[in-house]
Amino acid sequence: MTASIIDGKAFAAELRGKVAGHVARLAADHGVVPGLAVVLVGEDPASQVYVGSKGKMTVEVGMRSFTHRLAADTDEARLLGLIQTLNNDPEVHGILVQLPLPAHLDSDLVINAIDPAKDVDGFHISNVGLLATGQKAMVPCTPLGCLLMLRAHHGSLSGMEAVVIGRSNIVGKPMAQLLLGESCTVTMAHSRTRDLAAVVRRADIVVAAVGRARMVPGDWIKPGATVIDVGINRVDAGEGKTRLVGDVDFDSAAAVAGAITPVPGGVGPMTIACLLANTVTACCRAHGLPEPEGLTV
Ligand code: NDP
Repeated sequence: MTASIIDGKAFAAELRGKVAGHVARLAADHGVVPGLAVVLVGEDPASQVYVGSKGKMTVEVGMRSFTHRLAADTDEARLLGLIQTLNNDPEVHGILVQLPLPAHLDSDLVINAIDPAKDVDGFHISNVGLLATGQKAMVPCTPLGCLLMLRAHHGSLSGMEAVVIGRSNIVGKPMAQLLLGESCTVTMAHSRTRDLAAVVRRADIVVAAVGRARMVPGDWIKPGATVIDVGINRVDAGEGKTRLVGDVDFDSAAAVAGAITPVPGGVGPMTIACLLANTVTACCRAHGLPEPEGLTV
């Protein structure tokens, strides 16, 4: 193996430590405690786990956690009413609606009902527009985590060739915007891209956000490139067990890359840490206080 491992778990622990420090200072100097409200509609088991760990980590860094669990058949008016209440609640600085929502609810409508200043997922159309135009936004957590790790690893990314595989609103598109903001030359690839292997081979930075187990083999990677693997795929591990793998074939990629994030233990832990960081940023903005450095871009 030639690649160094980008340890997302360690980065995330460091970021949570910074967040906890800022939370303590906000309380001591200004009497302000950041609060994060998470709304879960229905009983999707994976969402239940995510919401549980978000609540736990919110409390661990000293913030207030408000969890709202609504029945799967909750109607739009009830959900929009709750979002309005949270928008108006001065103790709530961040609001996250856990996706996916049940099919009868319109996710775009619901997300766009959140006050953009409290939209810590960065999915509100205003934040998408602010990010695209290079203005101060709430930045989506997963791409923010990827960028913080890339910056820590490389310092300046200016002039680097970056290829983002995947064009979702949650990961691929905001990731490309962030890399463009760092003055990378950015290519966005997707399911219709011709000769994906040749496109990826140009990249100094590869971000894979596809959702297909180990689809990027090592011989697509330029020697020395940095590989950020966002994918989370559950595969058969034999004997009735399963395990998580990324979108990149780790072993063959690590033999040629300069640096690579593992799955698990790479991008995943950074996502929740960035959610906490965004909540502190939103709280500082709401109170007109200086924003702590290193929590956002
Ligand atoms: P989406 O399904 O929304 O998007 C997948 C993208 O991959 C699409 O743009 C699609 O292209 C593209 N794609 C599909 N097949 C191919 C192919 N054969 N070649 C090239 N591109 C392809 O997924 P998400 O962006 O939401 O998530 C991507 C992965 O990241 C998933 O594994 C998910 O679990 C993981 N994830 C991890 C997070 C973390 O915290 N670590 C957070 C969020 C997601 P097209 O648009 O043409 O269909």
